[in-house]
Amino acid sequence: MIAIEDLAVAYQRQKQEHNALQNVSLTVPQGTVCAVIGPSGCGKSTLLKVVAGLIKDYTGTVRINGGEVSPKKLRIGFMPQNYGLLPWQTVAENIRLACRIKDGWSEEKAAKMEALCQKLGLTDLLNRYPQELSGGQQQRVSLARVFLLEPDILLMDEPFSALDAITREEMQDVFRDLWEEAGITTMLVTHYVEEALYLGQQIVLMSGSPGTVAEVMENRWQGSRQWKTTTEFFAKSQELKEKIKAMGARTL
Ligand code: ADP
Ligand code: MG
Repeated sequence: MIAIEDLAVAYQRQKQEHNALQNVSLTVPQGTVCAVIGPSGCGKSTLLKVVAGLIKDYTGTVRINGGEVSPKKLRIGFMPQNYGLLPWQTVAENIRLACRIKDGWSEEKAAKMEALCQKLGLTDLLNRYPQELSGGQQQRVSLARVFLLEPDILLMDEPFSALDAITREEMQDVFRDLWEEAGITTMLVTHYVEEALYLGQQIVLMSGSPGTVAEVMENRWQGSRQWKTTTEFFAKSQELKEKIKAMGARTL
């Protein structure tokens, strides 16, 4: 479980403090996906970085499974927007990387990696380098790496944004299937309301300047492909887009 209470983060810019986040409280129950949406610049990435342990200068409390945010003690799966693959390492090396650093390598891990690569269609790409892959393929490598790690929590920063619409929907399904098997507590930042409505059990709408939680919605249809084709889904999407627009921001 991720529990955030009264979180505030300020950045120093031109010798002045700028509040990026203020009064942010939210709880992500164990084994659920929390989708975070909101206008550009409202502090979504800042929020993920705090939970990932990358930003330590904050006030308020952040607890993961009842303990402090400690990348040393916890397994934190962080997927940055640009996939985070190392260009000088092959696909296979990239997938093994996080696990190797955390636990060393084992037969068991190798078997799990093989199964994951089969599922993600990566078996024939293992000796390639990231720049020899399409965006969708790179995203699959990134997913294989993070699911091989079997993290305590998974943090994804606009993971599918750089993909074309068809590939993005495909990758949402790939993620949904992997997630359903593993049931990892996940925070997924996105600016696509449809993605939030498809993948999040909980949808947190943030507003900006300074970034805070404007609304929390429960979404009991999470993961249902059928739900995506209903008029209710369409109406909810429109409603969310209007809310984000009303905050004075662009939506995609
Ligand atoms: P989002 O991910 O929602 O687009 P960010 O968390 O990246 O928003 O940024 C929130 C605010 O903090 C923005 O106004 C941004 O310009 C500012 N900001 C982000 N990173 C830094 C930084 N390292 N130094 C100063 N200001 C920053
Ligand atoms: Mg961001």
